[in-house]
Amino acid sequence: MLVEIRGSEVRITADSGTQTRLIMKRRNFLKTTTSFAATATAAVPQFTNAAKSDVEIIDIHQHVNFHGRTNEVLVKHQDTMGVSKTVLLPSGGQFNLSSTNNGRANGLAARVFGTEAAIRLTKLHPGKFVYFCNQVPDLDSTKADLEKWLKSGAKGIGEQKFKLELDSKPMQLIYEIAAEFEVPVLLHFQHKSYNMGFDRLPSMLKNYPKTTFVGHAQTMWGNIDANHKQEVMYPKTKVKPGGLTDRYLADYENFYGDLSAGSGQNSLTRDEEHAAGFLERHQDKLCLGTDCADKTGEGKGCSGAGTISIVKRLLEGNDAATAKIMHGNARRIIDFD
Ligand SMILES: [Zn+2]
Ligand SMILES: [Zn+2]
Repeated sequence: MLVEIRGSEVRITADSGTQTRLIMKRRNFLKTTTSFAATATAAVPQFTNAAKSDVEIIDIHQHVNFHGRTNEVLVKHQDTMGVSKTVLLPSGGQFNLSSTNNGRANGLAARVFGTEAAIRLTKLHPGKFVYFCNQVPDLDSTKADLEKWLKSGAKGIGEQKFKLELDSKPMQLIYEIAAEFEVPVLLHFQHKSYNMGFDRLPSMLKNYPKTTFVGHAQTMWGNIDANHKQEVMYPKTKVKPGGLTDRYLADYENFYGDLSAGSGQNSLTRDEEHAAGFLERHQDKLCLGTDCADKTGEGKGCSGAGTISIVKRLLEGNDAATAKIMHGNARRIIDFD
């Protein structure tokens, strides 16, 4: 294998020299190698700052004013779960368009505040939060709005949750901007509701190889199953491996999964035998997220705390895979520095 560094790009070439297998931006390559090095020592317990966890936990999916929850309660919720760093995913602006479901999808349909509120909370708690930026994709100002925030410190785009086909022109603009700024885009996939056309995602993954796509929500997680019925949001049946999500995670290096919310948790609990293998085989691609709006951060009412403990239990004895899913993969795709 030959590794060449040319300007901001790192080119990794197969032994024969005839086939370029992987091209990454230099920054991401350095992160990848750092993460591999960290993984090698992951058996040693580390990061004991989190109250209840022997492994560092990064939560890649939370919101400001989630169903009206205050910042004070959000901070405490994250501490109680044992999370040391949280990614705040803002909503887009308030617009009455078909892409916002005539306003019903404003605030991510959960009263979530926009990018400026995420910036304010991040500034109040240095080191605890980073923020993404977000905007409705089909506005005249979308490009300028996102670029302004990305230039001033936003670490990604999302949560993108708008009523658009995932390969529509406005969504392709989002993928282009994410590639240009080398940041991930987090997408809520929900059949007939948001980012529609999950079966057509591969064309986007191929056409935007420099864009890191992070998938979330019902249609992402239902499709671990080769027998998935697209209209079922929380399937309870046994899983037949080889569903669309299983294949995309295996086949596209720029596709990642966010385990947050009831949908992520359901994909782990509906068939635990399958789930243990799934976590194992996609250990380099899955990231812990919570996306829960409760006030406690523990117990039955907190799906995030539940998912953290389920992942740890299903991967018991495999500290390296646990560490990747709890923080390593997030650090590889999101710039926390
Ligand atoms: Zn969310
Ligand atoms: Zn919770």
